[in-house]
Amino acid sequence: MSTADAPQALPEEPFRHTTVPFTRTPGPDGSEITGQVDFSQVPRFAGPSTFAGLPRLSDVGEAQAGVIGIPFDSGVTFRPGARFGPDQIRAASRLLRPYHVELDAFPFARHQVADVGNLAVTPFGIDRAIAAMLAGLDEARERAGRLVVLGGDHTIAYPSIRSLARRHGPISVLHFDAHIDTFGPYFGAETHHGTPFRRAAEEGLLDPEGCMHIGIRGPLYGPHDLADDRGYGFETVHASEFSTTGLAGILERTRARLGDRPVYVSVDIDVLDPSFAPGTGTPEPGGLSSRELLYLVRGLAGLHVVGADVVEVSPAYDHADITSLAAAHLAYEFLSLWGR
Ligand code: MN
Ligand code: MN
Repeated sequence: MSTADAPQALPEEPFRHTTVPFTRTPGPDGSEITGQVDFSQVPRFAGPSTFAGLPRLSDVGEAQAGVIGIPFDSGVTFRPGARFGPDQIRAASRLLRPYHVELDAFPFARHQVADVGNLAVTPFGIDRAIAAMLAGLDEARERAGRLVVLGGDHTIAYPSIRSLARRHGPISVLHFDAHIDTFGPYFGAETHHGTPFRRAAEEGLLDPEGCMHIGIRGPLYGPHDLADDRGYGFETVHASEFSTTGLAGILERTRARLGDRPVYVSVDIDVLDPSFAPGTGTPEPGGLSSRELLYLVRGLAGLHVVGADVVEVSPAYDHADITSLAAAHLAYEFLSLWGR
């Protein structure tokens, strides 16, 4: 037997960390906060596969903010695959570090943040899936406070808004997307990824004085596609306006529209140009850059953001994790808004 064939002796301590060494810091009220895995002891590619190496909710019991995945894509009308979004976004989030420079914030040290895991919902039957999402999101909000929901396709925004409206009443929606998503039925289906805001508006869950679409573009079937949208209270910033109005002006208009209302921010990753987010189901040329989108989300600091989602990341169409990296950073922006 040659040396190469000999069984290799395992190192004496092949895996020392039977318990994960998390960073721990005293919070503002003196209670101990469990932060990210201590990356000085565990390389960031070797720790648990939670969002940003944060503890699972079961590690800490309860939290004030959380990240939750809904791996559901049975509502898509074109390319599927967003069911694999949450875990790919988590994988891309391992590079996120604890200090947010622009906001001068340590988002994981001000209060407890946890990864709530994924909701297990059926891929067969949208109505049953939505009922399960609603129950899961209600329970998660009880235990983990404010949530960033990782899609999944955009259908998930509907139960997410419904769960928040139970607590806050009708809420504002700030909606980043290439598409308005107040469309009508498709192949007889009333609920799909192009209808979450129609469904929410019809149920009276939206504040008609404070909703906004940003990044809208691309061809439609006709002007009738836009007719109902106006009645739901959405003001629209088309992607083309980024060429004529400065970013700061768009942010100012957005902040004025939202005011001090409770606002849900929904980010369909296809609001980004396909060059910044190829990994998505219904790409439209002429979109925002990652820098523009991050600027606008960061610029919401001080507003009453009660929940957020990042949806429509479809890893099979991605290259070099471009899209899931953008999504991971967006989720980090929301956690940083809450952890200032
Ligand atoms: Mn879209
Ligand atoms: Mn959408």
